[in-house]
Amino acid sequence: MKKFEDFKIKKQLKNAISDLGFINPTPIQQESYSTILSGKDFVGISQTGTGKTLAYILPLLQNLSYSDQSNPRVLILVPTRELVIQIVEEIEKLTTYLNVRVIGVYGGSNNINPQKKEIIKGIDIIVGTPRRLYDLTLSSILKLKSINKLIIDEVDIMLDFGYKTQLKNIFDYLPKKRQNILFSATMTKYVDELISNFLINPNKINISVSGVPLKSIKQSSYEVPNFYTKVNLLNYLLEDKGQYSKVLIFMSTIINAERLNRLLNFNSEISIIHSKKEQNFRSKSISDFESGKTRILIATDVISRGIDIDKISTVISFNTPFYPENYIHRIGRTGRASEKGNSILLFNEKEIILKNDIEKLMKYKIPLIAFPNNVEQSLELTPEEKEKKVVQTELSELKVTNDVGASFHEKSAKNSRENIPKKSYKKKIKEKYKKPLRRGDKIQNKKKKNKK
Ligand code: AMP
Repeated sequence: MKKFEDFKIKKQLKNAISDLGFINPTPIQQESYSTILSGKDFVGISQTGTGKTLAYILPLLQNLSYSDQSNPRVLILVPTRELVIQIVEEIEKLTTYLNVRVIGVYGGSNNINPQKKEIIKGIDIIVGTPRRLYDLTLSSILKLKSINKLIIDEVDIMLDFGYKTQLKNIFDYLPKKRQNILFSATMTKYVDELISNFLINPNKINISVSGVPLKSIKQSSYEVPNFYTKVNLLNYLLEDKGQYSKVLIFMSTIINAERLNRLLNFNSEISIIHSKKEQNFRSKSISDFESGKTRILIATDVISRGIDIDKISTVISFNTPFYPENYIHRIGRTGRASEKGNSILLFNEKEIILKNDIEKLMKYKIPLIAFPNNVEQSLELTPEEKEKKVVQTELSELKVTNDVGASFHEKSAKNSRENIPKKSYKKKIKEKYKKPLRRGDKIQNKKKKNKK
């Protein structure tokens, strides 16, 4: 099967695909179409940028017959609202010539009532984040009794976000007889657990093994001693507007994202997103960047997972990510759908250990570029850099203890999460949700802790 034309799909879908300009299916689309269509449980290990969204939407739409019943038949769960919006848009584009009712639901203080109204009108496909989906189910507005297809996308992130309990709660409301489809960029112990607990003999397709970045991405790195020197280097590099025409900069923390935003020279050309920004602000940042109104987007990891923007010329990792997989995800934002992309990693002496892990995971040494002579090296340190030593020692120790061979990165990610001191975990969760975990989650976590 080489072209979409050869797929046995409805004429309306073919026309929509042709309108989108897609001619050849990507490998994941080729491999998954007939299995998903057959109704078997399915697991796809695949990065974003490989066309995985279309890979599951296409067979779902092919199978979905017209109905005026009000309860949804397809449920798609994803970790972020950005991803909800993106998937709903993709479904809308594909259903231009079909009568399919789709709605996206996600958290927000004043959007639950409009979502309820839409649900009451009747829907075929619901795309949502677990918490909001569960709240709507509890309110009895959303009835899941007709769901016969469940898709969980970005399962690894979902579990990393602590959505395990919500997922389980939602499963309790779903009919037992259903098709389960899971997509994850990485295979971790938790993903494996979910598969063995909820799926029946799934077909597993591993399109791009975790750790293998897209071939179309040219990688490079600079060793830079500290935050302010990294800023100087970026101010120098980003002067070249031809080479750096659409740049996504990843930051490890919100504080540093804001700091960089203030210090870069290209004020009017910058958009910024992180989880402390309101939804409207985030959407505007993304659309400004997407349309080319701004040239540079500063983002934190979590929020960036839902971004699907074409033609990103360069992804810059301002820091070296602690989880090696995150590096792969970051750079996967460029070089998408057969475009060429560039990735630049900035690392300091303390981050070398993290860079080594990334290289081990990719089985590839990232080429090093000499630090330009004409860029000033700053001696100034940020407050976090000044008090850094303790944290860094913790990280190094975790890395050393967990370095146990082939499946190292999966174990490392999991173990280090468990070993992170309680205070920093709480802080992390607080940062993610801007409020403490729910009571139910707390109890669940306590139980888990006591078991160990
Ligand atoms: P995804 O991996 O689902 O995030 O998709 C990455 C990007 O590739 C999206 O912008 C899709 O619209 C695009 N895309 C998906 N399938 C194809 C295809 N067969 N040909 C060209 N582009 C595609």
